[in-house]
Amino acid sequence: MTIAASPLSPSTGTVDTHCPYCALQCGMRMTGTGIQPRDFPTNRGGLCQKGWTASTLLDSPGRLTSPLVRVDGELRPASWDHALDLVANRVIDLQARHGRDAVAVFGGGGLTNEKAYLLGKFARVALGTAQIDYNGRFCMSSAAAAGTRAFGMDRGLPFPVADLRAADAVLLVGGNPAETMPPFVQHLRGAELIVVDPRRSATAELATLHLAPAPGTDLALALGILHAVVADGHLNHDYLTTRTTGFDDVWRVAAAWWPERVERVTGVAAADQRAAAAMLAAAGNAYVLTGRGTEQHARGADTVSAWINLALALGLPGTPGSGFGCLTGQGNGQGGREHGQKADQLPGYRKLDDPAARAHVAAVWGVDPDSLPGPGRSAYELLDSAPKGLLVFGSNVLVSAPHASRIAGRLSEVDLLVVADVVLSETAAVADVVLPVTQWAEEDGTMTNLEGRVLLRRRAVTAPSGVRTDLAVLRGLATRLGQPADRFPDDAERVFDELARASAGGVADYAGISYDRLRDGAALHWPVPSADHPGTPRAFLDGFAFPDGRARFVAVDHSGPAEPPDDEFPLQATTGRVLAHYQSGAQTRLVPELMAAVPEAYVEVHPDTATRAGVADGDLADVTSRRGTVRARVRYVPSIRVDLVFLPFHFPGAARANLLTNPALDPTSRMPEFKVCAVRLEAVT
Ligand code: SF4
Repeated sequence: MTIAASPLSPSTGTVDTHCPYCALQCGMRMTGTGIQPRDFPTNRGGLCQKGWTASTLLDSPGRLTSPLVRVDGELRPASWDHALDLVANRVIDLQARHGRDAVAVFGGGGLTNEKAYLLGKFARVALGTAQIDYNGRFCMSSAAAAGTRAFGMDRGLPFPVADLRAADAVLLVGGNPAETMPPFVQHLRGAELIVVDPRRSATAELATLHLAPAPGTDLALALGILHAVVADGHLNHDYLTTRTTGFDDVWRVAAAWWPERVERVTGVAAADQRAAAAMLAAAGNAYVLTGRGTEQHARGADTVSAWINLALALGLPGTPGSGFGCLTGQGNGQGGREHGQKADQLPGYRKLDDPAARAHVAAVWGVDPDSLPGPGRSAYELLDSAPKGLLVFGSNVLVSAPHASRIAGRLSEVDLLVVADVVLSETAAVADVVLPVTQWAEEDGTMTNLEGRVLLRRRAVTAPSGVRTDLAVLRGLATRLGQPADRFPDDAERVFDELARASAGGVADYAGISYDRLRDGAALHWPVPSADHPGTPRAFLDGFAFPDGRARFVAVDHSGPAEPPDDEFPLQATTGRVLAHYQSGAQTRLVPELMAAVPEAYVEVHPDTATRAGVADGDLADVTSRRGTVRARVRYVPSIRVDLVFLPFHFPGAARANLLTNPALDPTSRMPEFKVCAVRLEAVT
């Protein structure tokens, strides 16, 4: 299969590329810094406001163009040699005094596959530290854990996005693509849409049926709908018999969650639960999709498992025209979790504690398998451990990590904080050394989009002098740490070829993917085990990724949020994204059009709740949890539940939503409970 337009050479002045932001990876055409949308299967000519304005950051006044080194408390420009020598010497000293694991690495889900791969290799080989994780732990790790235990493989969407156009019904849980990835919504237009979200979001406005459970109760809702599927005769017995195992254990739990009981816990009418079950069962083609609202809980992996169980009971996963999938958020959220920047992982989605995996990857790297460290701490635990040295690539943890005040305190205890970034993010601003790096349109690299398709993003413009690629930074540090230069190439295509070899035979097998195939326009969804393999756009049609080919039902039960409301904190807060901003906002807050659209933090409140708190629409108010207070402007939203407030998480300082959030971690995925915490609302005095 080929796409209509293939990337052109940068020398022509026009390059077909992809948006730098979210995992939809919309196709765009760049002429110089001019952007036009492109007809690509995920966006079909659409772009959101972030995509249209993406090139603003290429020559933004906020762009970093020189390394910075802290001297007498101030960040001052320095030469690259000075900055890299300083970092390497401090790392050597810290590791000599405190051990290899005293220096940690923190990556990002926006990094290209090549960067994520080389970062993992740098940590395990050049630093010899077990302590590496990344901000994708905050985004998709619960979906990854649940997908792996049910299907034997974690690929967010195991089918192309365009397949959704033929759906008759779609159940979308905890996702708001109308705001976070608007071009995606066109693929849902032909389906009856059921949306599960405690807020009446922009996506819920499009739904045939909107189910608004109390925050932290969606696992119970999934059990109630599953109960209705069974009780009302919608169970797909043939599929259960031939393609799954474990239903009886799941039913033992779900049998006790009849819809009327679930209504008392969730607030969702029993009739609506039965209606959702009937709509999905009646559809010829049906999908269940989940997003961050499902995952970002202290029991997020179990919650995703509950929705997978529902999809399996209906016979959807691995059935042509139907399926189950998780919507990935970050631009390379999928590839970023496959190639070794995760604490427990080696390239190709291999496990770091698997001797065969260690031997394979060590052979590609030319090192002794026994020299590779074991699994390290998860993202929040890594930051909370206050390592002696911390190297951050493409992440703004001061804004994006939960319990932000605690993380700020822990970072202040780090002896050497190094941040490689495009702009002076809030985390870079407190670093000891800041390394300015190239961004999307200034470098070659691959991204793996939300449907597991590997995309080539080619250099379209020349980077400002003074910046280097992340690959060059890693090479510069690795050689200063005594590694041979050949082991850390800074050419993206060479790194990719090595990544492909390292992934060969793994779950996420890129062995048959090459820049040449991507340049020729091939649509390659992994696994692609050989150079003549056409790719796997639709996984699981012939069986799931277990030796017996069967999907696993996983028995899970409702337990509610880690921090229920009480007299002192009677409301619940949830956080999320808005159309105009992306992640911590470090980039989008430098784009004037986006700041004009949403210039400051706000808190969505039901008017009755606001009145009780003595605040009016447009007032500044304080939202306080057990961990901190956020000051934000009140927005009346009559459709929001009276027991809920919503805050976007893109803003810094006293407006950081993560000052409130609860770092209670999922026992399986180690993902924090971003989506619900107990708060109170007060007028500013
Ligand atoms: S939907 Fe995502 S990929 Fe598409 S233009 Fe917007 S931010 Fe970029």
